Amino acid sequence: MPEEVAVDMSIVLMGPPGAGKGTQAAVLERRTGRKHVASGDLFRAHMIKGTELGQQARSFVDRGELVPDEVVINMILQRAKEPDCQNGVIFDGFPRTRKQAKALMEGLRAQGEELGAVVLLAVPRDVLLKRIAGRQTCELCQTPYNIFYTPPRLEAICDLCGGNLYTRTDDSMQTARHRLDVYARDTFPLIEFFRDLGLLREVDAVGDVDAVIDLVTEAAALPTVSSGQTGSVA
Ligand code: AMP
Repeated sequence: MPEEVAVDMSIVLMGPPGAGKGTQAAVLERRTGRKHVASGDLFRAHMIKGTELGQQARSFVDRGELVPDEVVINMILQRAKEPDCQNGVIFDGFPRTRKQAKALMEGLRAQGEELGAVVLLAVPRDVLLKRIAGRQTCELCQTPYNIFYTPPRLEAICDLCGGNLYTRTDDSMQTARHRLDVYARDTFPLIEFFRDLGLLREVDAVGDVDAVIDLVTEAAALPTVSSGQTGSVA
């Protein structure tokens, strides 16, 4: 096990929309026993349930704008205190602003934890646009597709279960462009912030998912767990 990383340390997966943070984080969760916490997924769940938080977030999410810092920070820090996060968290989509980054570091410190690493997934803009605007998901089994790279055999129908495929409301080409601009404006400056703290690890995230996941695991210096043992790290 790498010396410098304590077993319960959390990490941040950073990168523009479409960089593959969700895919990477899901595999990392199984490999390392840390909990995948995605701010975008939490907002979408609240929007589906129609909670007050979901209603607050909806107009921002649908326009590709950032939800106000206070709302996101409270939601994430609360989530990170839950019992299933005690072995550490893989933060996905958070932080996205300097204020959120500072709140995360302070929140972890208040719980006696430190951030272990920030892994930046680097992908060129033209690839990102196709990944976002081509994205479709099965409404029944959640299998992801991409009409440019991994299309279903029948248009808008899941190969595995026959369910209908849907496109997220914020995944149109126009909103995708805007989300990338918002990333460049608000989130890109965090790269310097985390680099100055010595936490940043950059990974070339174009190419085979399995190859990228190995690079990400290595970059985060995360010890892995044997299969079936997700509660603690070996
Ligand atoms: P994502 O699934 O990470 O692409 O997030 C979808 C949308 O949720 C974003 O376009 C924002 O509207 C909102 N969102 C997610 N995470 C954050 C965050 N850390 N700060 C502000 N807004 C966020």
